Amino acid sequence: MGKPTGFIEFLRELPSEVAPLDRIRNWDEFHLPMPEDRLRTQGARCMDCGTPFCHTGTLISGMASGCPINNLIPEWNDLVYRGLWREALDRLHKTNNFPEFTGRVCPAPCEGSCVLGITNPPVTIKNIEYSIIEKGWDEGWITPQIPAKRTGKRVAVIGSGPAGLCAAAQLNTAGHTVTVFERADRPGGLLMYGIPNMKLDKEQVVMRRLQILEAEGVKFICNTEVGKDLPVETLLREFDAVVLCIGATKPRDLPIPGRQLKGIHFAMEFLTANTKAVLDRQPDDSFISAAGKDVVIIGGGDTGTDCVGTSIRHGCNSLVQLEIMPKPPETRAANNPWPEWPKIYRMDYGQEEAAAKFGDDPRVYLTTATQFEGDENGQVKAVHTVEVQWERNEKGQFIPNPIPGTEKVLPAQLVLLAMGFLGPEQFLLDALQLEKDPRSNVKAEYGKYATNIPGVFAAGDCRRGQSLVVWAFNEGREAARECDRYLMGHTDLP
Ligand SMILES: Cc1cc2nc3c(=O)[nH]c(=O)nc-3n(C[C@H](O)[C@H](O)[C@H](O)COP(=O)(O)OP(=O)(O)OC[C@H]3O[C@@H](n4cnc5c(N)ncnc54)[C@H](O)[C@@H]3O)c2cc1C
Ligand code: SF4
Repeated sequence: MGKPTGFIEFLRELPSEVAPLDRIRNWDEFHLPMPEDRLRTQGARCMDCGTPFCHTGTLISGMASGCPINNLIPEWNDLVYRGLWREALDRLHKTNNFPEFTGRVCPAPCEGSCVLGITNPPVTIKNIEYSIIEKGWDEGWITPQIPAKRTGKRVAVIGSGPAGLCAAAQLNTAGHTVTVFERADRPGGLLMYGIPNMKLDKEQVVMRRLQILEAEGVKFICNTEVGKDLPVETLLREFDAVVLCIGATKPRDLPIPGRQLKGIHFAMEFLTANTKAVLDRQPDDSFISAAGKDVVIIGGGDTGTDCVGTSIRHGCNSLVQLEIMPKPPETRAANNPWPEWPKIYRMDYGQEEAAAKFGDDPRVYLTTATQFEGDENGQVKAVHTVEVQWERNEKGQFIPNPIPGTEKVLPAQLVLLAMGFLGPEQFLLDALQLEKDPRSNVKAEYGKYATNIPGVFAAGDCRRGQSLVVWAFNEGREAARECDRYLMGHTDLP
């Protein structure tokens, strides 16, 4: 701990951002880098508190408390304070293969459990992580690390999202020959097609890392859906082990009257086609435009927020985001104490932009859609809504009951369904004859990742259900370790 009184002397400071009304004119990232002296001051706020909770990564009340990949946070905070950036980068890479992704998109459960956060605003851990890795790229410290020896073992990783990329990177480090199969035209999973460009730049950030992985020896085969384009028999015959990282991409639907109308889409159809258009510099047939439309987004989570930011950049006419849950409190509730993840009201980037453009947070709480109304051409023109109250039913379950007299009709020529995901698509699991858990995810014990088929492992959202990039990192790294142990009888991977 370099500065014992840092947490008393210095206030929390986050980097500047491009103002909402300016940034909605393009798809560029909008967080601005922070000058080095101010970053060092932020590092000095870390108290090195003796029993740091920030790097524990435990689940409390079902939510991550502390960093799920156990980043060595107090150590690199101190190194940044002392200006030892190279050493800070080495510490960061010990636990995190791709800090440039988490440094941009992680919700930072570490900050929710920072000990300083009990009485003061927590240390800006995520921004320090981002700054260490970007310094590393700027200085040219991140170069391909090609393994000295190859084991001769061949591993297939199915799916190139954060879990697949971490698994591939670790298995390659162990000397195995790794091939990553991806059904999309570009690798990256939801890092590429999911999280929009303004949160995570595809060409300058995602591709930059994919090129390093390729130079290290990882082979990417895109446009190949395993189970369809590549039969599972061939897969199992040609590879010594398989790590399944296919994500949880089955979207939750809303089967209410009018669902068949034109203009109602799953959020991922909208977001994927948009990113593809940004990258290809032109829209293709799958592109869905929000320009000039009244947009209703159903779902108040992260995916819904990305639909808000994307619709605004298209130039939508109006925007409403329906959320069935109540508005969270401004500060921690009594039943949500530190070090739990603070379930508090936040304005994310999309809502900030909507407020700047239309005057208010677009989220409407405790409200659900009951019906979609169409015009004579079968095109959606309105969404009927009702307010709800959460009550226990006779089985003791909390359910949303409609409140009579609160019905409304919202104009909508575009409706986006962003209500979460129901696990992995099932055909590959069935083709491989994999056992499933009760939520239709691949059945594989956390920490072991082995499925019922010897040599087939599963990690990330397809195993744990829809989650976070940082959990996908955790599982991808650990599944690689178990896969290495299976192949070699022992492992040195962390
Ligand atoms: C819109 C959106 C925004 C999000 N924003 C954030 C955020 O800001 N921060 C955060 O921490 N988390 C965010 N998440 C969650 C996060 O992206 C996921 O938890 C994470 O990407 C899961 O990683 P994964 O590797 O398990 O799966 P994915 O990233 O889903 O990758 C799975 C890959 O497998 C491929 N695949 C599937 N089946 C096959 C097959 N048969 N053959 C070949 N390839 C196949 C898919 O095409 C996909 O590329 C967001 C999720 C969504 C949907
Ligand atoms: S990966 Fe997420 S939880 Fe871990 S240190 Fe970075 S921001 Fe915090």
